[in-house]
Amino acid sequence: MPELPEVEVVRRGLADHVAGRTIARVEVAHPRAVRRHLEGGGDFAARLQGRTITAARRRGKYLWLELDGGEPGSDAVLAHLGMSGQMLVATPDRPDEKHLRIRIAFSDDGVHSPSGTELRFVDQRTFGGLSVHPLVPAVGGGLLPAPVAHIARDPMDPAFSLDDAVAAIRRRRTELKRALLDQTAVSGIGNIYADEALWRVRLHGARPTEKLTRAQGRTVLTAAAEVMDEALAQGGTSFDALYVNVNGASGYFDRSLAAYGQADRPCPRCGTPIRRESFMNRSSFSCPRCQPRPRR
Ligand SMILES: [Zn+2]
Repeated sequence: MPELPEVEVVRRGLADHVAGRTIARVEVAHPRAVRRHLEGGGDFAARLQGRTITAARRRGKYLWLELDGGEPGSDAVLAHLGMSGQMLVATPDRPDEKHLRIRIAFSDDGVHSPSGTELRFVDQRTFGGLSVHPLVPAVGGGLLPAPVAHIARDPMDPAFSLDDAVAAIRRRRTELKRALLDQTAVSGIGNIYADEALWRVRLHGARPTEKLTRAQGRTVLTAAAEVMDEALAQGGTSFDALYVNVNGASGYFDRSLAAYGQADRPCPRCGTPIRRESFMNRSSFSCPRCQPRPRR
């Protein structure tokens, strides 16, 4: 699953290439890609035709395109990237991708501007898709598409409150890593960046949040923001201007991760082999020496 830095790279690409453009027509090539749009593919295409994309927004791992100004109650296109969803900006003469699911053509595409691009949603595994929803007031403030209005602000949001997020995590009364992944306490942190943040601050993810001090809470969230910032900086450098890609192209996953995916390799701080533990049908990676398990 893409995490916050990967989604932010896509958002920036969309802000550069599709914001301000008016939709001429929409082609839904696979019904699964619009299954979250309950009124169906025909309605999805009709709702978008003639509308102007005014902004590309993100909160946590969620991405949406605002239509016609982003006023309360106005429509937004919510993108679910799933496991393999990609938002590609391509010139119309580029051959269709094998797994092209939705094509959005703009009024300046090929007609007024021969180099005009179109937006393609490509998804090999079809877990992702696009859907239109009204913008509603979100729990953490601001306007979000209705299905994701419950998610909290992420650490890279200018209006993010570190103290509020720490308080929300301490109220969860669960294990620290579970609280970090709970998108209603703080959004945008997934398995990779949770493990990296916990390694940086030398805390084991199984520590109970009710025993977490406010200072520890602030430290771990600050570390999460830092590691996501660094990942974003790396992703930005390899970003191809015309090819907005969530998976693979940016090379995030071979960057220098200290703990995540590093089982049996030496901890960069103390040299002890990194341990892998099972966690919610996935794995957690930590240093047994720097991050001792809490006593029961
Ligand atoms: Zn260590």
